[in-house]
Amino acid sequence: MTGNFERIAAQALGEGRTYLMEHESKRILMDAGLETTGAHLASSADDAVRVANQLGYPVVLKVLSKDVVHKSDAGGVRLNLQDADAVRSAYHEIESIFRERGMIGVSVQRMASPGIEVIIGVTRDPTFGPVLMFGLGGVFVEILRDVSFRSIPISEEDAESMIREIRGYPLLRGYRGISGDIDAIKSVLLRISDLVEKHSIIKEMDLNPVFIYPRGYTIADARIILDISSPASAADTAPSSGAAGLRGLFYPQSIAVIGASNTKGKLGWNVFYNLLSHGYKGRLYPVNPNASEVQGVRAYPSIKDVPEAVDVAIVLVPASLTPQVVQDCCAAGVKYVVVESAGFAELGDEGKRIERELLSIVRRHGCRLLGPNCSGIINTNCGVVESIGVVDELNRGNVGLIAQAGVYAAGYLWGLRKVLDFGIIATIGNKLDLNETDMLEAIGMDENIDVVCMYLEDVKGGRRFIDVAREVSRRKPVVVLKTGRTEAGKRAVSSHTASLAGNDEIYSSVFRQAGLIRARDNDHMFALARAFSKQPLPANDGVFVISYAGSLGVAAADAISMNGMRLAELSPELKDELRRVLPKYVSGMNPVDFTFDQTPDQVRRTIEIAVKSEDVGSFIVVMQTEMLGAYIDTLRSIDYMGRPILAVVASKEFVIDDTIKMERAGIPVYSTPEQAAEVLGAMWMYRKERGWQEQMRH
Ligand code: ADP
Ligand code: MG
Repeated sequence: MTGNFERIAAQALGEGRTYLMEHESKRILMDAGLETTGAHLASSADDAVRVANQLGYPVVLKVLSKDVVHKSDAGGVRLNLQDADAVRSAYHEIESIFRERGMIGVSVQRMASPGIEVIIGVTRDPTFGPVLMFGLGGVFVEILRDVSFRSIPISEEDAESMIREIRGYPLLRGYRGISGDIDAIKSVLLRISDLVEKHSIIKEMDLNPVFIYPRGYTIADARIILDISSPASAADTAPSSGAAGLRGLFYPQSIAVIGASNTKGKLGWNVFYNLLSHGYKGRLYPVNPNASEVQGVRAYPSIKDVPEAVDVAIVLVPASLTPQVVQDCCAAGVKYVVVESAGFAELGDEGKRIERELLSIVRRHGCRLLGPNCSGIINTNCGVVESIGVVDELNRGNVGLIAQAGVYAAGYLWGLRKVLDFGIIATIGNKLDLNETDMLEAIGMDENIDVVCMYLEDVKGGRRFIDVAREVSRRKPVVVLKTGRTEAGKRAVSSHTASLAGNDEIYSSVFRQAGLIRARDNDHMFALARAFSKQPLPANDGVFVISYAGSLGVAAADAISMNGMRLAELSPELKDELRRVLPKYVSGMNPVDFTFDQTPDQVRRTIEIAVKSEDVGSFIVVMQTEMLGAYIDTLRSIDYMGRPILAVVASKEFVIDDTIKMERAGIPVYSTPEQAAEVLGAMWMYRKERGWQEQMRH
């Protein structure tokens, strides 16, 4: 069956065109098992009438020309032709318009009965490769851009979610007697994904419109655009880090620091000091040709003199010297080289040349390289702190952070470590060899890490990023902050689909496809991380709210429903029990509004009753700012029976000591009920989606 595809593609390319006309495109689709209205080439009026007579009326005539991409705009579509005369005159009309415009004839096809119009398309993204699009047709796509994307290949659950995701979904599901065959759409999406996966020469595709019926569908128009540039595989050619998961990089037995220094203030001093002062238990080897010891540790003139093949060599020499140093490292059997020096690709051509040289050296030797222009790894589980800035006091923790820039990580670390305990922080810098995907894969496997935060400017791993992220997301939440959202992503595009596929739209859908949680900004990312790292996931969508102020309780209730949850409902028995402990003036049972007399003990007794309800999946407790400190011991001591609790305190940043203490007690604190509800909503969504994926797989 692929014979037709090759023949059609070869003919088009032979004629110097990458655009396949409707009859060619539909042939390919029909060979792939898809339903279309057909398209028979007819090169004369007689021909057209003969085909129409065979098909039966009514029929549609459309111009076929390699120069006409948008047929109806140019007046090249004649619909609902009822008999031979109508076909004949339509042919002549089309001919009169297009005779001089490369017309090879018309396509004669069956007139489809009306249905819901959808658009299905394919485009290529520079980062992720082929991308599938789905949306409702007509004004929905033109004006509202109501479309969804997924990276190809898609799974059945991707097909399902990309249909559900569009705002017009209720229309398909059924509205006022109209409905669409959702399984049929799913099957088309999956077949198109297969087709494109099989033929990497397909660059773009528009199926527009596809008519969806209560049962079945038909593709009324199709165009395919081929790629003449031999499809450069976006695939990462780097060796896979495999199941070992970069263990030696994150948990090294031995570290050499090339450029370790005795001069305070130098980066080589800082890095070595960090390693000494955080209790790293492995073997440390400062390398410095001008010193016999560094900060009290015996030094070696070269990595070649170090008495063992170390797991990690940190390189701090000037960029121009790095190729020789990395070469020496490889010769000495170093497994991971961490180049923290700057002055590479970020500074121009010479730096790029050095990078290419470094890459070819490590590839040749099978050594892996982190950086350059990074700040190494922090792993509080084994006292490894490779940062170029001095870092003090770090608790051991369960949060992973992957960041491109070291200064970013350092800036956040300074304050955040008071309320958030990091396990691993990996800075990837220019990601010449190891990139965010490798880090995510390794940290995803790390049993000490329960939640991963990623700060990204771009993604290098392409499709592998999606596959890895999806796998990791099944095991632990991954929150990502991607900057560069407004980038226009305007390229010369020939298909409708490509014009709708902005850079940020693709990133958003790819993140969704991978099950990643996208953060708006840094505060949002760490607000999520604080909850995910300290609290269990909600047991269900029912939230129980306790507040000292009615207005804040109402705000919480609103925010809860806006974030896909609801207020929990206690059983009559539990309501009675609660009524007995509540003061007379408290009327509501959720939110419970204690007014300003709310005390820690009242809150405890309320929670101890509510926690018995199956319907309560989580708690939000709003506390008086001036009393925050008084709640800490009480809230810490309650048994929430596996449910999460989030605290809300107005202006928490101005009672910072108590806020920190509450966070240290394991209860995340937010300034507004809206923030708490949003975080809870993300936790619930994460739990629900994971459950849904489990179901789809079994
Ligand atoms: P183009 O997109 O190149 O302008 P189309 O083939 O999509 O041309 O035709 C324009 C419109 O005509 C479609 O959006 C659809 O509404 C209608 N149409 C096209 N082909 C058929 C068909 N076989 N049956 C019913 N309606 C059709
Ligand atoms: Mg069309």
